[in-house]
Amino acid sequence: MEECEMAKVLAGRQAGEFAALERRALLGSGSPRGGACRAMLGAPRRSVQRTRTAIAVLTLLFFSVSAEAALRAGAATSNITPSMGVRLDGTIMQIGPAKGIHDELHARCLVLDDGKERFAIVVCDNTMIAQFVMDDAKAIIEERSGLPSNRVLISATHTHSAPRAIGISDEPEDTAYLKFMARRIADGVQRAINNLAPAEIGWGGTEVPDFVHNRRWFVEGNEKTANPFGEKGEKVRMNPGRGSLIKPAGPVDKDLFVLSVRHTDGRPMALLANYGLHYIGGIPSGYVSADYFGVFADRIQELLKADRQDPPFVGIMSNGTSGDINAIDFTAPRKRFKVYERMTQVGRATAAAAFEVYRKIEHRSDLSLGMREVELPLRIRKPDAARLEWAKPLFASGQVKFDAGKRLTRPEVYAREAMQLKDYPDVVKIKLQAMRIGDLGIGSIPCEVFAETGLGIKGKSPMKSTFTIELANGFYGYLPTPQQHQWGGYETWPARSSCLEVQAEPKIRKAVLGMLEELGAK
Ligand SMILES: [Zn+2]
Repeated sequence: MEECEMAKVLAGRQAGEFAALERRALLGSGSPRGGACRAMLGAPRRSVQRTRTAIAVLTLLFFSVSAEAALRAGAATSNITPSMGVRLDGTIMQIGPAKGIHDELHARCLVLDDGKERFAIVVCDNTMIAQFVMDDAKAIIEERSGLPSNRVLISATHTHSAPRAIGISDEPEDTAYLKFMARRIADGVQRAINNLAPAEIGWGGTEVPDFVHNRRWFVEGNEKTANPFGEKGEKVRMNPGRGSLIKPAGPVDKDLFVLSVRHTDGRPMALLANYGLHYIGGIPSGYVSADYFGVFADRIQELLKADRQDPPFVGIMSNGTSGDINAIDFTAPRKRFKVYERMTQVGRATAAAAFEVYRKIEHRSDLSLGMREVELPLRIRKPDAARLEWAKPLFASGQVKFDAGKRLTRPEVYAREAMQLKDYPDVVKIKLQAMRIGDLGIGSIPCEVFAETGLGIKGKSPMKSTFTIELANGFYGYLPTPQQHQWGGYETWPARSSCLEVQAEPKIRKAVLGMLEELGAK
């Protein structure tokens, strides 16, 4: 009887497809779940040998299921480099087609499983990815593996030397790239699932202040300068010159966070870092590169002596909350760097700092996982009648120039953006997520989030440690606070790159904290 009870318990615990496959293999193809039980209940006239076999099978089953209940992880990369000719244009930036590739782009995938909960984190070398592209990838993942869409976090690093995967152009090579990317992301997650193996996880952090500077400054006399819409009175300027600086308009987040995943024999499997730095750049226009995010991934692999492992080690640098942060110290004389020099420096320096954190991390395999996803409806800041009146002639003349292959002026760009926003829905539902690994919390937001929002979430989170991954599960532009909206500047100008309602930030912050509270209540 005892063994029968055990079989029932075991049957109830086996949720995953892998467990089902293993059970079928153990009990014989097509065996009903109670097969082993019935064999044992009918024991009196059956041979002792048969009973022993059944006990042996159940013992094996017990140990194999116990092992599955412990933490498992899998990691993989999938190449998402575009062909030359795919456009690198943004909503505001005019770059044109890719004419060279400096280093390959990847979707870097990590899947974690504690026997009850399974989720995936994917970080893509891309500037920004629209929700529909990510939803396509998630649909393929769900169909193939059964991993639900709301258990997959997909984010972009914000390298600017990559296509913007948001449907900027209708040219066949550009739309084909979006489909290619969705499929390649899904392949990466499947490969990470295929690699699932017993794992141990640990984390820690350090401060790396050298490369994070707030790029929004109060500038003396800025009120007299007109914005692209011809309006004056804004207090804040992005990336100002050195003269007349008053003070930065927001804080920086100096934290470099490190999540380490190892095989149970101590070999590194994956390392996911998080740092709030927009991107570095210094890459020739038209060239494709993963920026410092790619350098970090390569260098941390070297430092961990994890080259050429089977399955390969996966280094990942995710973008924290960096909407207003870059690596330029506006109070110091501007330094000149050779192409690719600065991104290499920053990638190597952040990898060195992450490695120092890694050396002190204690890894554990008895951690539990949790995840939540909510959809939050938010209004779009659509142009009013006066703005459309302003935009229409500029848009028309700009379109003629654009079709002739000429660059647009800033007002022409923003006129085009106004016409784009006019056709947006009034309300969008954005996806927000929270994950829990032990007492570590991870939030995700589909925007270019300011440092103060990330710090606010870290400060109020019920978890012992928390970080936020931005540009995740969609792209809804910059996320200034209501106060930052009032101060003005590039990140607040209505465009596809800044489209959510003025009150979006407090609503998003509250929703992410609400999910972390729910997860932390365990
Ligand atoms: Zn940006």
